[in-house]
Amino acid sequence: MKAVVLQPDHRFALEEVKEPKLAHPGDVIVQVTTTTICGSDVHAKHGLLPGVVPGTIIGHEFVGVIAETGTGVERFKPGDRVAVPPATWCGTCRACRRQEVQHCPHGGVWGGGEIFGKGLAGAQASYVRVPNADVILTAIPAGVADEQAVFVGDVFSTGYHAAFEGRIETGDTVVIFGCGPIGLGALVAALQFGPRQVLAVDMLDNRLALAGHYGAMAIHAGRDRVVEQVQAVTDGQGADVVIEAAGSPDAFAQALKAVRRGGRVSVVGLFPNEVALPIHELVYYGVQISMGLGNLSRVDRLMSLLETGKVDLTPLATHTFALEEALEAYDLFENHKDRCVKVLLRP
Ligand SMILES: [Zn+2]
Ligand SMILES: [Zn+2]
Repeated sequence: MKAVVLQPDHRFALEEVKEPKLAHPGDVIVQVTTTTICGSDVHAKHGLLPGVVPGTIIGHEFVGVIAETGTGVERFKPGDRVAVPPATWCGTCRACRRQEVQHCPHGGVWGGGEIFGKGLAGAQASYVRVPNADVILTAIPAGVADEQAVFVGDVFSTGYHAAFEGRIETGDTVVIFGCGPIGLGALVAALQFGPRQVLAVDMLDNRLALAGHYGAMAIHAGRDRVVEQVQAVTDGQGADVVIEAAGSPDAFAQALKAVRRGGRVSVVGLFPNEVALPIHELVYYGVQISMGLGNLSRVDRLMSLLETGKVDLTPLATHTFALEEALEAYDLFENHKDRCVKVLLRP
């Protein structure tokens, strides 16, 4: 089968690789029907993810059809459509029993190399071996298309986590820095908590337009004075909740200025460097900061929300390519060409 594989010179290539085989009774083989490119795949290309070495198959956001099941699998059979979370977990350790499966020390991210991935092969391929299938997989209801379901594991889970950890309450003013896929996922999630208004900040007009489509007030980080705008719509108080989904030290600094005293800042962006904290001010003003990626134990619940039709994530999928065109898709995604937000790949 063909797969996107990291090369030694910070390049991806489509390579012919062996199809995976069942290795444990709890395994299934998933035939990938839709996968996507994530910002962290681009990080992997540039060597920013330790352990993702040349030869690694990339990709961790995918849905598909069960092709084969191990002898121990009870919940699924060949032909079932499933959404696969971006990482595995064991289901029995202390983290898993606390429902914090993203912290399971036995889990790995698909295509995450030896350190983050425990050697699990990535999903930009035709087939993937999925261990512990009964525990980690979510069935896709008949009414939910791949174009929605593919976002439930990472984009919507991480976005929802940002909103949930920000503890948005009815009537709150929420500001979201970064309108990439995760920021837009956070916007859609934030709306589930009944905010008074959501302000969305980005540098790209097409992403701001999409945020506007979901009902946010768009603020251009280059043209507009972000903190002043937030103050203007909150009687000078600042926002109740600020979500940082940009992974930018500048945006983070502005997030700390945009939040009200006693407000909450929820960080899900991935930062390339360390950032300084004005800790004296934060303590004095009682600003609460939470951080972390998606809690994957919520995927079932988020899928059931998609099933109701109340949430529509399909506008995020701006482009679709065959897996054979993956390199073209990467170029488009990485360089924000053609108003690209999220690229789907179809093996
Ligand atoms: Zn991802
Ligand atoms: Zn565990």
